[in-house]
Amino acid sequence: MKILVTVKRVVDYNVKVRVKSDGSGVDIANVKMSMNPFDEIAVEEAVRLREAGIATEVVAVSCGVTQCQETLRTAMAIGADRGILVESADELQPLAVAKILKALVDKEQPQLVILGKQAIDDDSNQTGQMLAALTGLPQATFASKVVVADGKATVAREVDGGSETLSLKLPAVITTDLRLNEPRYVTLPNIMKAKKKPLETLKPADLGVDVAPRLKTLKVAEPPKRSAGVMVPDVKTLVEKLKTEAKVL
Ligand code: AMP
Repeated sequence: MKILVTVKRVVDYNVKVRVKSDGSGVDIANVKMSMNPFDEIAVEEAVRLREAGIATEVVAVSCGVTQCQETLRTAMAIGADRGILVESADELQPLAVAKILKALVDKEQPQLVILGKQAIDDDSNQTGQMLAALTGLPQATFASKVVVADGKATVAREVDGGSETLSLKLPAVITTDLRLNEPRYVTLPNIMKAKKKPLETLKPADLGVDVAPRLKTLKVAEPPKRSAGVMVPDVKTLVEKLKTEAKVL
Protein backbone atom coordinates (compact mmCIF):
# COMPACT_ATOMS: atom_id res chain seq x y z
CA MET A 1 0.00 0.00 0.00
CA LYS A 2 1.32 3.40 -1.02
CA ILE A 3 0.63 6.51 1.06
CA LEU A 4 0.83 10.04 -0.32
CA VAL A 5 1.46 12.62 2.36
CA THR A 6 1.48 16.39 1.88
CA VAL A 7 3.91 18.83 3.46
CA LYS A 8 3.54 22.59 3.22
CA ARG A 9 6.35 25.04 3.92
CA VAL A 10 4.98 27.73 6.21
CA VAL A 11 6.23 30.43 8.58
CA ASP A 12 7.45 28.63 11.73
CA TYR A 13 4.77 28.52 14.42
CA ASN A 14 7.09 30.30 16.90
CA VAL A 15 7.42 33.38 14.69
CA LYS A 16 5.22 36.35 15.44
CA VAL A 17 4.28 37.49 11.96
CA ARG A 18 4.14 41.17 11.04
CA VAL A 19 1.53 42.62 8.73
CA LYS A 20 3.02 44.57 5.81
CA SER A 21 2.50 48.33 6.09
CA ASP A 22 0.32 48.39 2.93
CA GLY A 23 -1.98 45.69 4.40
CA SER A 24 -1.39 43.41 1.40
CA GLY A 25 -0.24 40.43 3.47
CA VAL A 26 2.31 39.37 6.08
CA ASP A 27 6.02 39.95 5.79
CA ILE A 28 7.84 36.65 5.25
CA ALA A 29 11.22 38.09 4.22
CA ASN A 30 14.01 36.63 6.42
CA VAL A 31 11.52 34.72 8.56
CA LYS A 32 12.12 31.14 9.74
CA MET A 33 10.11 28.67 7.66
CA SER A 34 9.23 25.11 8.74
CA MET A 35 6.95 22.22 7.92
CA ASN A 36 3.31 22.92 8.76
CA PRO A 37 2.82 21.23 12.20
CA PHE A 38 -0.26 19.24 11.11
CA ASP A 39 1.79 17.89 8.19
CA GLU A 40 4.49 16.61 10.57
CA ILE A 41 1.71 14.61 12.20
CA ALA A 42 0.61 13.38 8.75
CA VAL A 43 4.14 12.21 7.88
CA GLU A 44 4.55 10.56 11.29
CA GLU A 45 1.29 8.64 10.85
CA ALA A 46 2.23 7.48 7.35
CA VAL A 47 5.68 6.36 8.52
CA ARG A 48 4.18 4.49 11.48
CA LEU A 49 1.86 2.65 9.08
CA ARG A 50 4.87 1.65 7.00
CA GLU A 51 6.85 0.61 10.07
CA ALA A 52 3.88 -1.54 11.14
CA GLY A 53 4.07 -3.33 7.78
CA ILE A 54 0.69 -1.95 6.65
CA ALA A 55 2.10 0.49 4.08
CA THR A 56 4.97 -0.29 1.73
CA GLU A 57 5.87 3.21 0.53
CA VAL A 58 5.45 6.77 1.78
CA VAL A 59 5.67 9.53 -0.81
CA ALA A 60 5.85 13.14 0.43
CA VAL A 61 4.57 15.97 -1.77
CA SER A 62 5.12 19.69 -1.45
CA CYS A 63 3.87 22.44 -3.76
CA GLY A 64 5.57 25.81 -3.91
CA VAL A 65 8.96 27.48 -4.25
CA THR A 66 12.31 25.68 -4.70
CA GLN A 67 13.00 25.88 -0.93
CA CYS A 68 10.13 23.42 -0.34
CA GLN A 69 12.86 20.86 -1.08
CA GLU A 70 14.01 21.44 2.53
CA THR A 71 10.53 20.59 3.80
CA LEU A 72 10.57 17.42 1.69
CA ARG A 73 14.00 16.50 3.09
CA THR A 74 12.59 16.87 6.61
CA ALA A 75 9.69 14.57 5.65
CA MET A 76 12.23 12.07 4.33
CA ALA A 77 14.26 12.40 7.55
CA ILE A 78 11.12 11.48 9.51
CA GLY A 79 10.91 8.43 7.25
CA ALA A 80 9.18 9.19 3.92
CA ASP A 81 10.78 7.11 1.13
CA ARG A 82 10.82 9.74 -1.60
CA GLY A 83 9.66 13.25 -2.36
CA ILE A 84 7.86 15.11 -5.14
CA LEU A 85 8.20 18.87 -5.43
CA VAL A 86 5.62 20.55 -7.62
CA GLU A 87 7.54 23.74 -8.15
CA SER A 88 5.88 27.10 -8.68
CA ALA A 89 6.78 30.63 -7.70
CA ASP A 90 3.11 31.64 -8.00
CA GLU A 91 0.78 31.90 -5.03
CA LEU A 92 -0.87 28.48 -4.72
CA GLN A 93 -4.34 28.64 -3.24
CA PRO A 94 -6.03 25.52 -1.77
CA LEU A 95 -7.98 24.79 -4.98
CA ALA A 96 -4.78 24.90 -7.05
CA VAL A 97 -3.01 22.58 -4.57
CA ALA A 98 -6.01 20.22 -4.55
CA LYS A 99 -5.92 20.07 -8.38
CA ILE A 100 -2.18 19.32 -8.33
CA LEU A 101 -2.75 16.58 -5.74
CA LYS A 102 -5.61 15.13 -7.81
CA ALA A 103 -3.21 14.83 -10.78
CA LEU A 104 -0.64 13.13 -8.52
CA VAL A 105 -3.27 10.74 -7.13
CA ASP A 106 -4.10 9.76 -10.72
CA LYS A 107 -0.40 9.27 -11.47
CA GLU A 108 0.74 7.56 -8.25
CA GLN A 109 -2.45 5.65 -7.36
CA PRO A 110 -1.97 5.76 -3.56
CA GLN A 111 -4.37 3.87 -1.30
CA LEU A 112 -4.28 6.64 1.28
CA VAL A 113 -3.63 10.38 1.11
CA ILE A 114 -2.87 12.03 4.45
CA LEU A 115 -2.92 15.84 4.70
CA GLY A 116 -2.85 18.23 7.62
CA LYS A 117 -6.26 19.53 8.62
CA GLN A 118 -5.09 23.10 8.17
CA ALA A 119 -2.09 25.11 7.07
CA ILE A 120 -1.13 27.53 9.85
CA ASP A 121 -0.36 30.34 7.39
CA ASP A 122 -3.64 30.64 5.45
CA ASP A 123 -5.80 28.73 8.00
CA SER A 124 -7.96 27.63 5.07
CA ASN A 125 -8.84 24.08 6.12
CA GLN A 126 -9.91 23.36 2.52
CA THR A 127 -7.30 21.36 0.61
CA GLY A 128 -8.14 17.86 1.92
CA GLN A 129 -11.85 18.39 1.42
CA MET A 130 -11.35 19.76 -2.10
CA LEU A 131 -9.06 16.86 -2.99
CA ALA A 132 -11.69 14.35 -1.80
CA ALA A 133 -14.30 16.11 -3.93
CA LEU A 134 -12.09 16.29 -7.05
CA THR A 135 -11.06 12.62 -6.80
CA GLY A 136 -14.43 11.32 -5.61
CA LEU A 137 -12.66 9.58 -2.70
CA PRO A 138 -14.15 9.16 0.78
CA GLN A 139 -12.72 11.52 3.40
CA ALA A 140 -12.28 11.66 7.16
CA THR A 141 -11.17 15.04 8.42
CA PHE A 142 -9.66 15.95 11.86
CA ALA A 143 -8.49 12.38 12.54
CA SER A 144 -7.39 11.57 16.09
CA LYS A 145 -6.94 7.82 15.49
CA VAL A 146 -6.40 5.83 12.29
CA VAL A 147 -6.52 2.04 11.97
CA VAL A 148 -5.98 0.48 8.53
CA ALA A 149 -7.01 -3.14 7.88
CA ASP A 150 -8.85 -5.24 5.28
CA GLY A 151 -9.00 -2.50 2.65
CA LYS A 152 -10.59 -0.07 5.10
CA ALA A 153 -9.52 2.80 7.32
CA THR A 154 -11.29 3.22 10.64
CA VAL A 155 -10.91 6.81 11.72
CA ALA A 156 -11.85 8.46 14.99
CA ARG A 157 -12.44 12.15 14.44
CA GLU A 158 -12.81 15.00 16.84
CA VAL A 159 -16.26 16.55 16.84
CA ASP A 160 -17.89 18.99 19.23
CA GLY A 161 -18.27 17.35 22.62
CA GLY A 162 -16.78 13.99 21.69
CA SER A 163 -15.47 11.68 19.04
CA GLU A 164 -17.04 10.11 15.94
CA THR A 165 -15.74 6.90 14.34
CA LEU A 166 -15.97 6.41 10.57
CA SER A 167 -15.14 3.47 8.35
CA LEU A 168 -13.80 4.41 4.89
CA LYS A 169 -13.20 2.14 1.94
CA LEU A 170 -9.68 2.65 0.55
CA PRO A 171 -8.46 4.59 -1.36
CA ALA A 172 -9.36 7.49 0.91
CA VAL A 173 -8.33 10.96 2.08
CA ILE A 174 -7.59 11.67 5.75
CA THR A 175 -6.68 14.97 7.40
CA THR A 176 -4.85 15.03 10.74
CA ASP A 177 -5.76 16.66 14.01
CA LEU A 178 -3.34 17.49 16.81
CA ARG A 179 -4.03 14.44 18.97
CA LEU A 180 -3.36 11.82 16.26
CA ASN A 181 0.26 11.28 17.32
CA GLU A 182 3.39 13.00 18.59
CA PRO A 183 5.90 13.35 15.74
CA ARG A 184 9.37 11.96 16.46
CA TYR A 185 12.47 14.14 16.66
CA VAL A 186 14.50 14.11 13.48
CA THR A 187 17.95 12.65 14.17
CA LEU A 188 21.19 13.65 12.45
CA PRO A 189 21.78 10.18 10.87
CA ASN A 190 18.27 10.32 9.42
CA ILE A 191 18.87 13.84 8.07
CA MET A 192 21.99 12.47 6.34
CA LYS A 193 20.08 9.46 4.99
CA ALA A 194 17.31 11.74 3.70
CA LYS A 195 19.79 13.59 1.48
CA LYS A 196 20.21 10.43 -0.60
CA LYS A 197 16.52 9.70 -1.07
CA PRO A 198 14.95 10.43 -4.48
CA LEU A 199 13.36 13.85 -4.99
CA GLU A 200 11.48 14.45 -8.23
CA THR A 201 10.62 17.96 -9.40
CA LEU A 202 7.62 18.72 -11.60
CA LYS A 203 5.86 21.89 -12.71
CA PRO A 204 2.08 22.35 -12.43
CA ALA A 205 1.99 22.48 -16.26
CA ASP A 206 3.57 18.98 -16.42
CA LEU A 207 0.46 17.79 -14.58
CA GLY A 208 -1.83 19.88 -16.79
CA VAL A 209 -2.96 22.04 -13.88
CA ASP A 210 -3.94 25.70 -14.10
CA VAL A 211 -2.90 27.27 -10.78
CA ALA A 212 -4.19 30.79 -11.42
CA PRO A 213 -5.57 32.26 -8.15
CA ARG A 214 -9.37 32.38 -7.87
CA LEU A 215 -9.37 34.56 -4.76
CA LYS A 216 -7.92 38.02 -4.18
CA THR A 217 -6.82 39.18 -0.73
CA LEU A 218 -8.32 42.62 -0.20
CA LYS A 219 -6.76 43.47 3.14
CA VAL A 220 -4.82 41.96 6.02
CA ALA A 221 -4.94 43.75 9.40
CA GLU A 222 -3.42 43.23 12.85
CA PRO A 223 -5.90 42.28 15.59
CA PRO A 224 -7.03 45.36 17.58
CA LYS A 225 -4.72 46.20 20.48
CA ARG A 226 -6.03 45.09 23.86
CA SER A 227 -6.65 47.91 26.32
CA ALA A 228 -4.82 47.70 29.66
CA GLY A 229 -6.54 45.91 32.55
CA VAL A 230 -7.43 47.46 35.92
CA MET A 231 -6.78 46.11 39.40
CA VAL A 232 -9.86 45.95 41.61
CA PRO A 233 -9.50 46.19 45.39
CA ASP A 234 -12.03 43.48 46.29
CA VAL A 235 -14.62 41.00 45.00
CA LYS A 236 -17.49 43.41 45.67
CA THR A 237 -16.00 45.98 43.27
CA LEU A 238 -15.28 43.25 40.70
CA VAL A 239 -18.92 42.09 40.76
CA GLU A 240 -20.10 45.69 40.54
CA LYS A 241 -17.88 46.35 37.48
CA LEU A 242 -18.98 43.11 35.80
CA LYS A 243 -22.59 44.26 36.25
CA THR A 244 -22.34 47.93 35.37
CA GLU A 245 -19.33 48.21 33.00
CA ALA A 246 -18.82 44.84 31.32
CA LYS A 247 -22.55 44.08 31.59
CA VAL A 248 -21.89 40.34 31.69
CA LEU A 249 -23.82 39.62 34.91
P1 AMP B 1 -5.19 24.43 3.92
O1 AMP B 1 -6.41 23.93 3.20
O2 AMP B 1 -4.45 25.49 3.15
O3 AMP B 1 -5.50 24.87 5.35
O4 AMP B 1 -4.16 23.21 4.02
C1 AMP B 1 -4.53 21.93 4.52
C2 AMP B 1 -3.45 20.93 4.24
O5 AMP B 1 -3.28 20.76 2.83
C3 AMP B 1 -2.06 21.27 4.77
O6 AMP B 1 -1.91 20.88 6.13
C4 AMP B 1 -1.17 20.45 3.84
O7 AMP B 1 -1.13 19.09 4.26
C5 AMP B 1 -1.91 20.50 2.51
N1 AMP B 1 -1.38 21.61 1.68
C6 AMP B 1 -1.92 22.84 1.49
N2 AMP B 1 -1.12 23.59 0.70
C7 AMP B 1 -0.04 22.81 0.40
C8 AMP B 1 1.15 22.99 -0.38
N3 AMP B 1 1.41 24.16 -1.01
N4 AMP B 1 2.03 21.96 -0.47
C9 AMP B 1 1.78 20.79 0.15
N5 AMP B 1 0.69 20.56 0.90
C10 AMP B 1 -0.21 21.54 1.02
